[in-house]
Amino acid sequence: MDPSVNPSLALRETFGFDAFRPGQEDAVRAAIGPPARDVLVVMPTGAGKSLCYQLPALVRDDVTLVVSPLVSLMRDQVDSLAKIAPGRVALVNSQRDAADNRAALRAAAGGTLRLLYIAPERCCTAPFLQAMKDIEIGLFVVDEAHCVSQWGHDFRPDYFRLADVARRLGAEAIIASTATATPQVANDIVLRLGLRDPVRVATGFDRPSLSVGVIPCASAQAKHRHIAAALQEPGATPAIVYAGTRSGAEKLAGHLSGDLDGTVAAYHAGLGRERRVDVQRRFMDGRLDVVVATNAFGMGIDKADVRTVCHESVPGSIEAYYQEAGRAGRDGRPARALLFAEGRDKGLHVFFIQRAEGSFESTRARWSQYRAVWRFVETPACRRTAILRHFGDRRTPAPMPGVPCCDVCDPSWVPAAPAPKRSRSRPAGAPVVAAGDLDAAIVEVVETAHPPVGRTRTIEILRGGRAQALVRSGHDGLPAYGTFDHLTAKQVMARVDELIAAGRLRSTGGMYPKLETVDRGRLQRAA
Ligand SMILES: [Zn+2]
Repeated sequence: MDPSVNPSLALRETFGFDAFRPGQEDAVRAAIGPPARDVLVVMPTGAGKSLCYQLPALVRDDVTLVVSPLVSLMRDQVDSLAKIAPGRVALVNSQRDAADNRAALRAAAGGTLRLLYIAPERCCTAPFLQAMKDIEIGLFVVDEAHCVSQWGHDFRPDYFRLADVARRLGAEAIIASTATATPQVANDIVLRLGLRDPVRVATGFDRPSLSVGVIPCASAQAKHRHIAAALQEPGATPAIVYAGTRSGAEKLAGHLSGDLDGTVAAYHAGLGRERRVDVQRRFMDGRLDVVVATNAFGMGIDKADVRTVCHESVPGSIEAYYQEAGRAGRDGRPARALLFAEGRDKGLHVFFIQRAEGSFESTRARWSQYRAVWRFVETPACRRTAILRHFGDRRTPAPMPGVPCCDVCDPSWVPAAPAPKRSRSRPAGAPVVAAGDLDAAIVEVVETAHPPVGRTRTIEILRGGRAQALVRSGHDGLPAYGTFDHLTAKQVMARVDELIAAGRLRSTGGMYPKLETVDRGRLQRAA
């Protein structure tokens, strides 16, 4: 290799950029060498991670292998690289036909190719290793390198063999790259990929233009209303809404289509390929305002002007959360990440962890992710500080001027709770409701409210109160909310007290007494 390679000049000539972004130059210099050194790149999504190996690959005179588990990401990278380096980049994966894959390998053998992208499972096969035998491999890039660690959020057993493959192919250096590594995961990557005295490049995790909010919701209906209201605010779209399940994504997309003026579509792995490509293309072109998706969406989607990312349920880990939230505002302009948390999500997490098969270590890792993500959701302190600490970044968040930090630092910023639809409220002139209905509504509030409520809050809920604490707990999302707004507080209170006197409800006592139904209390004691 030519030792006179000037990385800045190469950057300008190849990519057309005038300057490196933080961390890139160190990684590029280490990967060019000579001799090249192992590198661990930890950079948040959107910070220019892939350039750290693409530029060295294009100035080197051997072949760089890039192992990536994400087919769509590979395709995007290859498509955009083909424009600046035609004929020098190719990919091999199971979604292409065999003839194309063979042609890519021939190009590698012919010496014209500089970058070859490949899926991890194929990279470990004997035919591939055989095909690579006489090809000079310079850099061996492991993208999404956190997949090698059980402490990461996306463990893949195939990754265990990559260190072996890299050394067998005689790679000069291994470049491991990831967007989401805690210090523990970073150490695991170094160990499991056998990196030798790697150059570590880690840029900060702060996103100055991204406001982070967690909004407690009492029910699925409250979430839907809240999300619709947030997306109706001026400048809220383009937006991605992450849903926990495929059916959840479909359902929410249906709701939002009715609520919003803009266009909404669902995206998940269960849709046909054509449909997915169509949704993705329309979103990229700006013809679609909102995509409601499972986590299958966004891998490799490089849309810079996403203004809002909503999470309809609490993700399984902070890594997954921040990777998805980080798809907002990649153009550096103000953007929001809103997480709508329901107490029920916690139960679901516990259920899935208990049900998941896996080693003792992987179960332990899942519990640790569970604790971390719920600490973040329930923290009374700055959310962005919590995220930075999780990734081992000791800095203080530094929001751009005029950009709110988070819902804790700046509570006024959280999108206003929408007024619920009062479908059950009394039409004008209708008779005052019978005591029987009010009793049922009181019991319903006591049984469904989460967090549990006391006497005063129950009355406020039924009368459609707008107290801040009520709204922040998401109690305005309960089906019975506002259904007795035509009664006075005294009238509702009288019924609550009668139910207590009749033994159907009781108070838990203590400093902040809550109401509970007597039958339910009995069941809970028996359990
Ligand atoms: Zn904050």
